[in-house]
Amino acid sequence: MSIEKYSLEKVLSIQPWTDTLFSFTMTRPAHFKFTAGQFARIGLKVGDELVVRAYSVVSSPFDETLEFFSIVVPDGAFTSNLQHLRIGDELYLEKIPYGFLTLARYQLPLPKDLWLLATGTGLAPFLSMLQDFETWSKYQHIHLVYSVRTASELAYVERIQEMAETFGEGHSGFKFVPIITREPNAVLHQRLPQLIENGELEQFVGLQFNPESTHVMLCGNPEMVEETKEALKARGLSMNRRGEGNIAVENYW
Ligand code: NAP
Repeated sequence: MSIEKYSLEKVLSIQPWTDTLFSFTMTRPAHFKFTAGQFARIGLKVGDELVVRAYSVVSSPFDETLEFFSIVVPDGAFTSNLQHLRIGDELYLEKIPYGFLTLARYQLPLPKDLWLLATGTGLAPFLSMLQDFETWSKYQHIHLVYSVRTASELAYVERIQEMAETFGEGHSGFKFVPIITREPNAVLHQRLPQLIENGELEQFVGLQFNPESTHVMLCGNPEMVEETKEALKARGLSMNRRGEGNIAVENYW
């Protein structure tokens, strides 16, 4: 792996959410341009080896710094080292961004209803999109659906409200929909595919999936992505290919 592909950046802040979830920001070099929804490849020196992982960017394409949302994978070569990050530490950043989970990929149907379905740290690309004024101006309805195991894992809730106020400027079609799967008393506590199959998700937001007007993006647990895709297809939605179709996906690990 050639080191010239990377720039060396500095950690600016670290925010722990739980024992296994945290966010961090780092310097952004002027050459690093990305579209909301894309991911960066970040490298960490572990001994003599450069270990690299993909991370969706949380911050907006207009921010001066880069923010990321991470889970600590037990015994993971990358995150178990990353969790010991300190302000001022250095990280490698690959100079180009990656990924096609961007709103620009949708041509047909035309933008109207946007469903952003995430589990865990798969929330990250959607936070970037919600900090882009264009997202809010394009869509009549925006539903951010975020599934976690326990309420303590619900990160970014206040920031999401702030984003809706700052970037949405009172957009009346925005709904934030938390799902807490291991707390039976939570209003929504079943897994995403079940909530789609039994109609509870649509009932909760008051809008139906519609092949003529729905754009739906999935990001997170690969099994969730696969099973939710099937549930949506059963409702008549199609995979987005070459700009046409309703469903766009990103597996997260
Ligand atoms: P998770 O197990 O992905 O759970 C997060 C949410 O997704 C929960 O609400 C969970 O529901 C739901 N979910 C899980 N499988 C699903 C499925 N097939 N369909 C629909 N929903 C589903 O939890 P996490 O904390 O984000 O990640 C757990 C583990 O995944 C980590 O410990 C790590 O090993 C791995 N991970 C790896 C990376 C990586 O970059 N390598 C990144 C993230 C996570 P339930 O409560 O019903 O399970």
